Amino acid sequence: MNWSIPSLTSMAIMCACAASLLAQQPNVGYDDTPMQPDGKWRIHDSKRPEPPVVAPGPASATPMAPPADAIVLLGGGEDVAAWQMMDGSPITWVMKGGVLPTGKGMIRTKAEFTDFQLHVEFATPSEVKGDSQARGNSGVFLLGKFEVQVLDSFHNRTYADGQAAALYGQHPPLVNASRPPGEWQTYDIVFTAPRFTPSGTLDNPAVATVLHNGIVVHNAVPFWGPTTHRRIDPYTPDTAKGPIALQDHGNPVRYRNIWIRRIAPESGS
Ligand code: MG
Repeated sequence: MNWSIPSLTSMAIMCACAASLLAQQPNVGYDDTPMQPDGKWRIHDSKRPEPPVVAPGPASATPMAPPADAIVLLGGGEDVAAWQMMDGSPITWVMKGGVLPTGKGMIRTKAEFTDFQLHVEFATPSEVKGDSQARGNSGVFLLGKFEVQVLDSFHNRTYADGQAAALYGQHPPLVNASRPPGEWQTYDIVFTAPRFTPSGTLDNPAVATVLHNGIVVHNAVPFWGPTTHRRIDPYTPDTAKGPIALQDHGNPVRYRNIWIRRIAPESGS
């Protein structure tokens, strides 16, 4: 055996190469966050397996027409009358030809909701920029508090509970049903608002069923609490109703054709 001993110079080059490789890796998770309530994974756990990829059918060139009893939140033309900034001031995002690109600051609907069926169409930027959470990031906030993540998750590694269609920071989607960047995608969400006792303690959590591009990615999954980064906030009675909100995360995501149907509770409940 003839073991060669690397020179100090070659070892320095190896170390430098390893360091630059590490520097090129996107941040794909955390190892210092609290455990989630079921004790299986940390919030944004870097070791949590990413969901398998399932290619959806092709994107539709035209928006999916709303049913007769839907409230249209974003239709054609330039009409953004259903929306305002989170503080109630007039919306500053600019709609053109039925497409609403994200602008500065989050927006919300003027109307508030409890239980509903929501249809959202979105597209992440055709020009791919950034990695992990910095690529095509936005979000659909149910009641303004519970986020279904919007992200370019087409060949873009990130922590499992932060990828497209994740209930952010809590539940990864069952599968990654993302279309390529720039293509129109759909979320269809059935949501039940949380219920509280008269004294204000949680009776039933918020529950979401989500289809991404026509594929079930959450089947009646309860939220552990309102969405935050790196932690899970407790339920408070003010989360029982609220608007639909869209997140500005500094990436130019586009939205079109958003409609909602209120779901009345079953009689007797
Ligand atoms: Mg987001």
